[in-house]
Amino acid sequence: MQIPFLSFAGQHDPIRTEVLAAMARVYDSHRYVLGQEVEQFEKAYAAFNQVQLCIGVGNGLDALELSLRALGIGPGDEVIVPTNTYIATWLAVTHVGATIVPVEPRLDTYNLNPDLLEAAITSRTRAIMPVHLYGQACEMEAIMSIARRHNLYVVEDNAQAQGATYNGQLTGSFGHINATSFYPGKNLGALGDAGAITTNDPSLAQRVKALRNYGSTEKYHNSIIGYNSRLDELQAAVLRVKLPYLPVWTAQRQQIAAWYHEALTDVPELTLPYTAPDSSHAYHLYVVRTAHRDALQQHLAASGVGTLIHYPVPPHQQQAYRTLQWQQEHFPIAELLARTSLSLPLWPRMTRDEVLAVAQSIQVFLQRVLRL
Ligand SMILES: *Cc1c(COP(=O)(O)O)cnc(C)c1O
Repeated sequence: MQIPFLSFAGQHDPIRTEVLAAMARVYDSHRYVLGQEVEQFEKAYAAFNQVQLCIGVGNGLDALELSLRALGIGPGDEVIVPTNTYIATWLAVTHVGATIVPVEPRLDTYNLNPDLLEAAITSRTRAIMPVHLYGQACEMEAIMSIARRHNLYVVEDNAQAQGATYNGQLTGSFGHINATSFYPGKNLGALGDAGAITTNDPSLAQRVKALRNYGSTEKYHNSIIGYNSRLDELQAAVLRVKLPYLPVWTAQRQQIAAWYHEALTDVPELTLPYTAPDSSHAYHLYVVRTAHRDALQQHLAASGVGTLIHYPVPPHQQQAYRTLQWQQEHFPIAELLARTSLSLPLWPRMTRDEVLAVAQSIQVFLQRVLRL
């Protein structure tokens, strides 16, 4: 049995002709930066995400950073982020010179715990950055109402949850300005780096459009200190082809998760993903937890099953943050998740037999461990 952690074949093989035609169209257009493809994709993604405006940028990290810049967040400001996230969320805050205020997640959903937010808010707090981790929507009603009460901005990190909803509303449409990533392995992936910002605020959108293009709205006239972070025409053309398939791929991810859930539900010593009542889960990742994580990962690898750990080292324990003294801090939930989490293989059009084979291998291993 050989089951990789991720296979693009299920998504990419059936649309090969369509994608290559779109790439050829860009090739022949002789327009490679900020042309029709980006404009059309921005319109299509805004419509999909049920927001007024979408601005394509170079990648997800830039989308987060430019969102904070557009809000005018910088040195002296505090930004609340989850303790358990991909480091990009933290880096964006660091890059704009603001202060990171980490808040622990709930142990059941792994998403930011709204009950802990108010204790983290000070007179310097400017924004909350909820991350819809692994594809599950955060509790956006509670988060938005706390933000309103304290006059804070909300910047969603929607890199993992395109198509997920809270109370029926899509993630990436709650916050004042929101970031997403089209890194190839994301639920909607380009063929390289790409990202976007979604917002209903035209003045924030204008600022981002200037920021992504050297701070310029008129060629060679630069009104603000900008960046070069534009979504490529080639990537936009690919994303335009892929976007209409996203709902089908999301449904397939959810089906695969349901198969895993059914097959693993009575396995001892294994915690399965939990979806909160008002949230939907787009299953960017299917993450299980066990105290025997490292041994289980080795057993699966020996059986030909690829897995990954999201994430083995929480941001506060990363060497990159040693000078900010975060390594002296303890965030027990983030640390527990880093020790026990394991992401199982999952990709659109993965078969039921493949899912059952992975589940079987997990079951055999944990039963053996428990007998020892
Ligand atoms: C992937 C990811 C990012 C960063 O996106 P890139 O396009 O790789 O820069 C940010 N936040 C989260 C939660 C992610 O998963």
